[in-house]
Amino acid sequence: MERTQLLSLTQAELADFLRPLDKAAFRAKQVGEWLSRGASIEEMTNLPAALRARLAECAVANPVTIRESFRSRLDDTEKLLYELADGNLIEGVVMRYHYGDTLCLSTQVGCRMGCRFCASTLEGRVRDLSAGEMLGQVAAVNRYLEPEGRRVHNIVLMGSGEPLDNYDNTVKFLRLVNAPERMNISLRNVSLSTCGLVPQMRAFAREGLPVTLSISLHAPNDEVRKKLMPIANAYAMGDVLAAAREYVEKTGRRVIFEYALVKGVNCELRHADELAARLRGLRCHVNLIPLNAVRERDLTPPARGDVEAFLRRLEARHISATVRREMGADIEGACGQLRRRVLQNRHQE
Ligand code: SAH
Repeated sequence: MERTQLLSLTQAELADFLRPLDKAAFRAKQVGEWLSRGASIEEMTNLPAALRARLAECAVANPVTIRESFRSRLDDTEKLLYELADGNLIEGVVMRYHYGDTLCLSTQVGCRMGCRFCASTLEGRVRDLSAGEMLGQVAAVNRYLEPEGRRVHNIVLMGSGEPLDNYDNTVKFLRLVNAPERMNISLRNVSLSTCGLVPQMRAFAREGLPVTLSISLHAPNDEVRKKLMPIANAYAMGDVLAAAREYVEKTGRRVIFEYALVKGVNCELRHADELAARLRGLRCHVNLIPLNAVRERDLTPPARGDVEAFLRRLEARHISATVRREMGADIEGACGQLRRRVLQNRHQE
């Protein structure tokens, strides 16, 4: 029998689950509080021992365990390697900022989107994460940060996986992380990054969740985009931009376009001009990311000067843009690099 993941349940679902096991109405509140703190069932010491024993047989409290951590010597980022209940590994990044810590969260084990520059997708998708496994990352990190008096304040769904390819679990996670009985994190502090799955972007705009939508564009036109992102063969850039416009209209929030600068592919000034022309009139911000070179791919970032020139050109065309700070460069901060190295070492053992 597969055990129920309690962290995947809403408070009402948790109460329904517990009722046949224990009649006391306040159990759901007690268990909910423990779950939000990332506790295991054994640690739920205010429950009767008999109930804890029953729960241990049929349920899992936190399905995510931090296995290793690597703290950057260059900045305050820390890369985490988590193990899931079935032994799968995923990774995350904590960025300590004075205004509150940000956690970069994974939504799938692996990814099937196939972006040419990304290490998360090299072996495809293994499986989707449940809502509880996403919430479990937050709970585990809150526990990890507690001795420092810190906790997760902002969340970016920018770890491995494509969140909108795991739509239902991601939306459930967003509602749970926001719930006062769980993490109580404002959705205004959450960003979701997508490679541009148009139908799901449209559906997401109608969910009424005040999340910041980031869209991985990485190109000024379809021809260049197809060189970097196979998904560009499924959805034309014009349709991605139309869905972005719809998101702005429905939610009143500007969207972020991510643009990884890849030498010899997408970072000439004519590309900046074309990008500016296509984004004109859209309430947006462009995040330029000098490519994080991945060992397995022969793509490289442009020279620093070219990054600056690209940025200045967008600004001259009245497009709001910044260059993302590179963090954690010494701890394999880029998506999927750490998990991949650990898996390779496992194979060699
Ligand atoms: N599937 C989501 C989340 C991916 S990770 C998406 O595609 O948006 C978040 C961002 O990091 C994406 O914009 C992704 O394209 C980018 N990214 C992945 N690998 C990178 C690399 N090696 N260098 C720079 N950016 C990278």
